Parts: sequence; C-alpha cells; structure tokens
Amino acid sequence: MNPNPCMTCGACCASFRVSFYWGETDAAPAGLVPAHLTEAIAPHHVAMLGTNQAKPHCIALQGVVGEGVSCNIYPLRSSTCREFTASWEHGEHNPTCDRARANYGLAPLLPTVG
Ligand code: SF4
Ligand code: SF4
Repeated sequence: MNPNPCMTCGACCASFRVSFYWGETDAAPAGLVPAHLTEAIAPHHVAMLGTNQAKPHCIALQGVVGEGVSCNIYPLRSSTCREFTASWEHGEHNPTCDRARANYGLAPLLPTVG
C-alpha cells in the first residue's frame, strides 16, 4: 500500500483561498465546518481563516508543509477540501495539486503503475 502523499505535503492548504457556501458552517442547521474558523468573503460565501491572503495558510493546517501535516478539522472540513484530490488518486491528473506542490519545491505526484 502506498502511504497517503497528502500526509507529508499539505501544500494545497497553504496555497489557495479555501472558500465555500456559508451553509456548510455550523452557523447553519446542517453545517459542519466550525464557523469561528471562517470569515465572510461574500454575502453567501466564507473562506477558511488564513486562506484569504497573499500567502495563504489555513488555520486548521497543523505541521510543516512538505514534511508532516494534518487537518485539525478533518471530519468537519468543507466540500471544497473533500473534493480536492491528490493528483492520480483516482487515476486522474490534478494540475492544481501539482501547482501547490511546486509552490513548496515538491515534485508532482506520478501515476502509480500496475
Ligand atoms: S480545512 Fe483542513 S483540509 Fe481544508 S484547507 Fe484547511 S487544513 Fe486543509
Ligand atoms: S497538494 Fe496534492 S498531494 Fe499535497 S496535500 Fe494537496 S492534494 Fe495532497
């Protein structure tokens, strides 16, 4: 089994604005994402604190990018986070994953063979 490459990466959580519909926060009846870890960026959208800035770094990201990381709210993370998959994880290339990794001098993931 290959180890999950995200556990020694975290570059996407420290490269982009992570935004989503406010109804995904626990300020809404069915929401999960802790609202106090988000900020409003539009009438109906919020972003994870720390990601709406020139050098994004999500407030929930723990550890050192490129070495060892974890998400403090993993079971409660937004759809934006859930839907962002590591390149080739499901057999599909994700160029945005490559771009995030390149920000931190990490090589792109390669498709697994066989
Ligand atoms: S909530 Fe977790 S998975 Fe989403 S950007 Fe932040 S650290 Fe990454
Ligand atoms: S940039 Fe790619 S490999 Fe790194 S944590 Fe994000 S999805 Fe995983």
